[in-house]
Amino acid sequence: MSQLFSGVGVSAGRVIGPVRRMPEPIAAPADGAPLPAGASIESESARLAEATAAVAAGLKARAASATGDAAAVLKATALMASDRTLLKSATKLVASGTCAESAIWEAADAVATQLGALGGYMAERATDVLDVRARIVAHLRGTPAPGIPDSDEPFVLCAVDLAPADTATLDPARVLGLVTSDGGPQSHTAIIARSLGLPAIVAARDTTSLVDGDLIFIDGIDGTVVRDPGTEESALAESYASREALPGFDGSGALADGHLVPLLANVGSGADAVAAAAAGAQGVGLLRTEFCFLGRDIEPSHQEQVAAYAAVFDAFDEAKVVVRTLDAGADKPLPFLTDDTEPNPALGVRGYRTDSAVPGVLARQLDAIAEAAAGSGAEVWTMAPMISTPAEAAAFAALCTAAGLKVPGVMVEVPSAALLARALTSEVAFASIGTNDLTQYTMAADRQLGALAELNDPWQPAVLHLVKATCDGGAAARGGFRPVGVCGEAAADPALAVVLVGLGVTTLSMNRRALPAVAAILKTVDLPLARRLAEIALDADSAEAARAAVRTALPELDLYGL
Ligand code: PEP
Ligand code: MG
Repeated sequence: MSQLFSGVGVSAGRVIGPVRRMPEPIAAPADGAPLPAGASIESESARLAEATAAVAAGLKARAASATGDAAAVLKATALMASDRTLLKSATKLVASGTCAESAIWEAADAVATQLGALGGYMAERATDVLDVRARIVAHLRGTPAPGIPDSDEPFVLCAVDLAPADTATLDPARVLGLVTSDGGPQSHTAIIARSLGLPAIVAARDTTSLVDGDLIFIDGIDGTVVRDPGTEESALAESYASREALPGFDGSGALADGHLVPLLANVGSGADAVAAAAAGAQGVGLLRTEFCFLGRDIEPSHQEQVAAYAAVFDAFDEAKVVVRTLDAGADKPLPFLTDDTEPNPALGVRGYRTDSAVPGVLARQLDAIAEAAAGSGAEVWTMAPMISTPAEAAAFAALCTAAGLKVPGVMVEVPSAALLARALTSEVAFASIGTNDLTQYTMAADRQLGALAELNDPWQPAVLHLVKATCDGGAAARGGFRPVGVCGEAAADPALAVVLVGLGVTTLSMNRRALPAVAAILKTVDLPLARRLAEIALDADSAEAARAAVRTALPELDLYGL
């Protein structure tokens, strides 16, 4: 008999496939555990050498059949597994009477610590060493290797949650969809699923009971998982499999009546910007500048920052690039800027607020942005994250002016900013709504907490009322209309994109992979219909009711399997 589980659908699509569970992380062996009974130093050393060679060979073989990022990650890990120094120091420990598992664990720890102390690129390699160590210990124990399971048959990956390192090697040709028992709509799992176009469900708590080989149906639209699916689910999966191919994005976002809605990309590096431009993005709506700062113990130099920003600007000659100044704190801690002892980091000194705690970093960043902008053809706009009051907006605008940056703006992520949008936008040239944080603060629900995933949904009517308040405020600003964009994950949901435009949003910025879907659905509605659907969503009592009512009015979502 079928069994139903429910979670939160975060990436559309309906598929049926066998379950493969993400293996449990490898537990650390006891410190300095002795040789196993009956083993000699020679036999234990040979066991260690065999495990190391087998892991290196396995990784090399997988690297050879992988492409892109996955191939690079696998190659780096394979190199680490073949490293003679690591095996040598572990063999030394075996010679002193330690078992192979404890020996490789301890030896890898020492190498990782050394690499970490070197900083920069070398510090990043510490993760590879720890990954190799876990694989060698798994081999020695005869348990599954950590990371995405290796399988020739396509499968639905089930896990508690997925970390960025897990998903680097995720092969969309073999993984049909993702189900996690934890994680929220803005978790790494949700973001990677949307970017790969894989159906995904998060916060499906009871799915921890699913085991390898269970046949399941997953519906990334309504968040259901069905074990032992029946004819109804088969029909839904078949209709999804025969969906019409999405037309590519032609580089011009607009509604059916010609109302223009420029579609921009969220990027986090120069390489990202190049890929976004190739995907037709009409500019950058959010440059997350953290890429230049995270993982650093000290502030990057002026020249380093100029080069990093210039790499993004160069990809968008003559197009708009909205740079967000450093958003440190909460989920993005930075040792030289934020205080990791705060009891509530999401409500702490984060984003723009760090300027009062550590003055100077922001002004220096603005100088670097200005220099990079002066040397490029891009139209550079600058905005600050976590602005809460009109006074903060005015102070940020003054800093931009001092740096020679002509288009200052604010992110609207805090309810107070949405409620005072008229006063706030009067101080600047534009606003961009960060729906990820605006949702967490409106609903008082930590965006990283799977248990609160249903509250953390940008379809929540309370959030939509604040989006409307922001657009209304921008339209009534002193000195004339101020454009209001959206750059949170909400902009990448094609049905919600229609509602946002109906509420008065002027541009949408998203992961570049969402551009074709959002563009195709916007083309099916005119402005009066978008406004009517926005009214319906505002009047709904719940996120589910809002989503369901709007989706019913957009039949092309089903046509494209969105
Ligand atoms: C947001 O909060 O919606 C946003 C775009 O910023 P981030 O996700 O980087 O906090
Ligand atoms: Mg934010």
